[in-house]
Amino acid sequence: MEMKGEQRIGLTDEAQNYVIDLQKAHEDKMEESFWPSTLLEGIEHGEEFVDTVSRLRDWIFTQRNSKDYFIRQEEVRLLAPIARPRKNIFCVGKNYREHVLEMGSEEDIPEHIMIFTKAPTTVIGQQESIPLHDDVTAQLDYEGELAIVIGKKGKSISKDDAMEHIFGYTIVNDITARDLQKRHKQFFLGKSLDGTCPMGPVIVHKSGIDDPQCLSLKTLVNGDVRQSDSTKQMIFSIPEIIASISKGMTLEPGDIIATGTPSGVGKGFNPPRFLKGGDVVEVCIEKIGTLRNTVK
Ligand code: MG
Repeated sequence: MEMKGEQRIGLTDEAQNYVIDLQKAHEDKMEESFWPSTLLEGIEHGEEFVDTVSRLRDWIFTQRNSKDYFIRQEEVRLLAPIARPRKNIFCVGKNYREHVLEMGSEEDIPEHIMIFTKAPTTVIGQQESIPLHDDVTAQLDYEGELAIVIGKKGKSISKDDAMEHIFGYTIVNDITARDLQKRHKQFFLGKSLDGTCPMGPVIVHKSGIDDPQCLSLKTLVNGDVRQSDSTKQMIFSIPEIIASISKGMTLEPGDIIATGTPSGVGKGFNPPRFLKGGDVVEVCIEKIGTLRNTVK
């Protein structure tokens, strides 16, 4: 989050009405433990950071002035939880059967996992606008997705060990310029226009989600439900995704993997329903929250 022009790590309450100022708690408690300046740095620090966060949270509740640590969310600017990833965001393509069918046919259902990436400059937070980019695309589309945030470094990770490498989960809207995606064959340009990876509103630590493969996911445009499915329907499960990507390639703390989108994208409608200026796109995932952005 950004508070008084300064970037800080916050913890939200369950209803996400408040942000708890952990940095203030760290200072007031005179903790000697390491305190990161960004969440990415914290994630890179491993489990010790997670322990510090829970210790600070518990400490706040024992304080007579505990209210001083709670800030109403309207008073801060929520940034993307990882505002500037160190590398491209990994994305799984064609990972929900119904989405593959709306974009093509049965023959397009992948036998092997399909991975493309988005440039780090695509990332924006909850309160930023998605640029319409009408000088380069006439077909801007949404894709609501569950995203995995890696917490532990690993290479050639087995499916059995995959979940241990996860730090937590967030929401990504894999905004896509369909005309560029098609014209240039390789997806990269159509997936990497500035501001086309809204992320957040928060990262939920893995301890807060028992079964990431059983979460309801909905995307709404101006309140109209376009996508509604469960992460149960993924063709390649989360352990399979981590195992496949890490075959010979090191995954590192802070790496982000968007796990694919269900059916109901704008291109899937007849006629297609691409995004226009002023549209409000919301991606809601159970246990994580709602990622809301306006197209401008
Ligand atoms: Mg996608």
